[in-house]
Amino acid sequence: MRCPACGHLADKVVDSRVAKDGLITRRRRVCEDCDRRYTTYERIEIELPYIIKKDGRREAFDRAKITSGLKRACEKRPISMEQIDHVASDVERALAERGEKEVASREIGATVMLKLKDLDEVAYVRFASVYRAFRDVSEFMEELEQLIQRRRKRVRRGPKRHPQRPSSARR
Ligand SMILES: [Zn+2]
Repeated sequence: MRCPACGHLADKVVDSRVAKDGLITRRRRVCEDCDRRYTTYERIEIELPYIIKKDGRREAFDRAKITSGLKRACEKRPISMEQIDHVASDVERALAERGEKEVASREIGATVMLKLKDLDEVAYVRFASVYRAFRDVSEFMEELEQLIQRRRKRVRRGPKRHPQRPSSARR
């Protein structure tokens, strides 16, 4: 910290106290040059960056979107909700630790991909193939939703489109 009296940049912490139920740490410091004492306050930065979408629009980070994208990518894979939640937390933490005000949505997608790679190869490939083409998490999720619906319809329609041949045809 720069000394408010002489501008010197080296100081020593002489006292450190936690305040406001652990949300703030108050530190008494002494300038190593002129011995002036002053106080600093340290608080945890919990603000997450804004997400800049592909079209330039900006929206608040939404953990629920990450979770639902993961759930879709992990559909019918041996992955528990707890594991999905863990990945979402990792992504959230990675974003918070960047300490930036804004992050491009494609970077969030890239972070999700990286975490998925460790978790499940199939889920990773699903996410990556769609995400890479769309470069936008929300766009990706919309498309994936459509893909899944199409697949469900196909599964439901399946037996009708391929009816069992009558037994006489086998002869
Ligand atoms: Zn000083």
